Amino acid sequence: MNDFTNYIRDIPNFPIQGITFKDITPLLGDGTAFNAAIEVFAEKYESESIDTIIGIDARGFIVAAALALRLGVGFVPIRKSGKLPFECYEVTYDLEYGRDTLAIHKDAFPEGSRVLICDDVLATGGTLAASIELVQKLGGNIIGIALLIELKELEGRKKIENQPIFSLVEF
Ligand code: AMP
Repeated sequence: MNDFTNYIRDIPNFPIQGITFKDITPLLGDGTAFNAAIEVFAEKYESESIDTIIGIDARGFIVAAALALRLGVGFVPIRKSGKLPFECYEVTYDLEYGRDTLAIHKDAFPEGSRVLICDDVLATGGTLAASIELVQKLGGNIIGIALLIELKELEGRKKIENQPIFSLVEF
């Protein structure tokens, strides 16, 4: 399978007026499509000696956890502020719709770890930029950034120059 666009649904004006939400539930709900998407990432990163896969709250967890199992490595969550129970580093950032703070446990992975960051959608890039900052606070070595969807028009990559971003589908 190489066309995943049929499994991504546009929801106009969600969660607020003016945003076209990219709904990935059709992709996740189809075993063949979901497996094929994870397999594309697995083939790309299996020879990269990844130590840890990081998922961004909340849909990034789905991709990251599936890929971590497939590659036989650990999973680390980056979560919204106030959700993680241990000591955290935090970064506040602007979203396509609103403002938020992300957090990571201070002991999430050892300094110098080879990490792969996963999320569902790259939109304006604020979420990913904040996540990169958190990973860098811990001294992580970012080997890859794997996304299901990149919304090119929003130019999120401009906020995250010189990072190895790979997106499965571009719109
Ligand atoms: P941004 O910080 O603007 O790149 O937004 C990225 C985060 O917000 C991702 O974690 C997505 O889950 C979510 N998001 C932003 N825009 C959309 C969209 N149009 N459709 C689906 N999710 C989105």
